[in-house]
Amino acid sequence: MEKWNREVQIAAALETYRTIGGWVERPTDMQAELTGDVSADVVIVGAGFAGLNAALELVKRGVKVVVLEREFAGFGASGRNAGYLAGGSGVKFDLFLKRIGHEQTQKIVDYFNEGVRHAESNFRQYEIDCDYNASGLISAGVHASQEKKVLENIRKASQFGVASEFLDQAKMRERGIPPAFLFGSYVNCGGTLDPGKYVMGLRRAALQAGVKLYENTEVSSWEMGPVVKVRTRRGTASAPHMILASNAYTPQLGLLADKVIPLRVSAIETAPLSPNQLAELGWWKREGIVTVHETMESHRLTARNSLVITTKRVRYPFGSRTPNVPDTAAYRALITALGDRFPQLKNLAIRACWSGYISFASDSLPVVGAAGEEENIFYTAGCSGHGVGAQSLIGRLLAERLGGVEPPLLAGLHHKVPGTAPEPLRWCGINGVMSIMDRIDERVNRKVRAANIGDE
Ligand SMILES: Cc1cc2nc3c(=O)[nH]c(=O)nc-3n(C[C@H](O)[C@H](O)[C@H](O)COP(=O)(O)OP(=O)(O)OC[C@H]3O[C@@H](n4cnc5c(N)ncnc54)[C@H](O)[C@@H]3O)c2cc1C
Repeated sequence: MEKWNREVQIAAALETYRTIGGWVERPTDMQAELTGDVSADVVIVGAGFAGLNAALELVKRGVKVVVLEREFAGFGASGRNAGYLAGGSGVKFDLFLKRIGHEQTQKIVDYFNEGVRHAESNFRQYEIDCDYNASGLISAGVHASQEKKVLENIRKASQFGVASEFLDQAKMRERGIPPAFLFGSYVNCGGTLDPGKYVMGLRRAALQAGVKLYENTEVSSWEMGPVVKVRTRRGTASAPHMILASNAYTPQLGLLADKVIPLRVSAIETAPLSPNQLAELGWWKREGIVTVHETMESHRLTARNSLVITTKRVRYPFGSRTPNVPDTAAYRALITALGDRFPQLKNLAIRACWSGYISFASDSLPVVGAAGEEENIFYTAGCSGHGVGAQSLIGRLLAERLGGVEPPLLAGLHHKVPGTAPEPLRWCGINGVMSIMDRIDERVNRKVRAANIGDE
């Protein structure tokens, strides 16, 4: 009976699939497609957090900017993410230390922390109401075997000045954190927001500031040189500088194809909880929670009182493609996570499910640099699913760099980006590792389920 219900729930969830994610609607004031030839000081490709922040910062400095966006501003990961504004606490300390050493890891941590401050200043400066809840974030364990990892993360983070507090069972319950999350580390930095409202707020601010935004305008290629000439279906845009803010979609444009890997990440959102369900749940401060699984689960409440659950099952699409299609296996896994962590809410209807793409370098470090003989094609990618703050900040740093001075936070990102294997090895390797991670996580989850049955 239980299995049948689950299948019905999954089938119903699939009916709610949204091609544009759960947070945004297609703008009613869609900006016209580029037709003919235009010129500017800077052409920006992609209108997510990175592209829009770069545009806003450049216009502020009196620079003429053209933004070319394939769909509409916010169509990519910026309009689809889980809405965690996180600083340096979530970085892969071990991997970074091995690759770039302590000093540069500190710079990367500083960069992510500054990303939080920059996004927060955007909310104030552009008067963006994006339901930001500066609650801080909790990285939680769901089984006793994960405690060591939580404590180890706290220790490593402290080496880089990230203060986090260990919350034991008693402290978690005091905060009203749902009981499936046994213990965790709490970082009093950042929080959760509605990413759709944030990115649409940036879009509005950019249009008001005089940024020329062309939507429904896909860049197909460009000619390098002292003036970069960018081609779209019906026109061209020329400028002495270009910023590629196309993130996970960049490899399809022929740049970073051997460095940046698009990974599909998925989300489900439940129907709103009733006042009674909310009262029973507790979770008064609504801290965003991520788990310390190999592939994390993220669990948060929204301002509309729904639960958004993301990640858990991540996959690489063959050939670095980014098809905008549902991922049934991921939604199934997320619905299972809903039942595992919130058994009392497992029959909640699903309001929406969706997927999007993050970009990832094999060392997990940001991929930011300049290409072309003239080094006038700037790119930013590889934020590994931590781009709400960082990809916002990078727009400001690139604008400062174009002004002639390289800010120290940008200089701190320079490193040799490792290459990835060619296909089909890349597909087999990445998805092989992902499957192993899923299996390790499932072993933990099975132990949790077994313990819960034992308790009943
Ligand atoms: C499900 C999910 C959950 C996530 N959760 C979090 C989270 O909680 N916290 C966090 O910090 N990060 C999270 N992320 C990652 C975060 O959303 C990204 O790092 C960030 O939004 C990247 O911003 P961006 O501007 O670089 O790229 P994007 O927002 O992807 O923007 C790129 C834009 O380029 C456009 N484009 C692509 N190709 C072309 C072309 N040829 N011509 C013109 N335009 C083009 C696209 O349409 C798109 O609008 C999540 C991502 C996903 C998918």
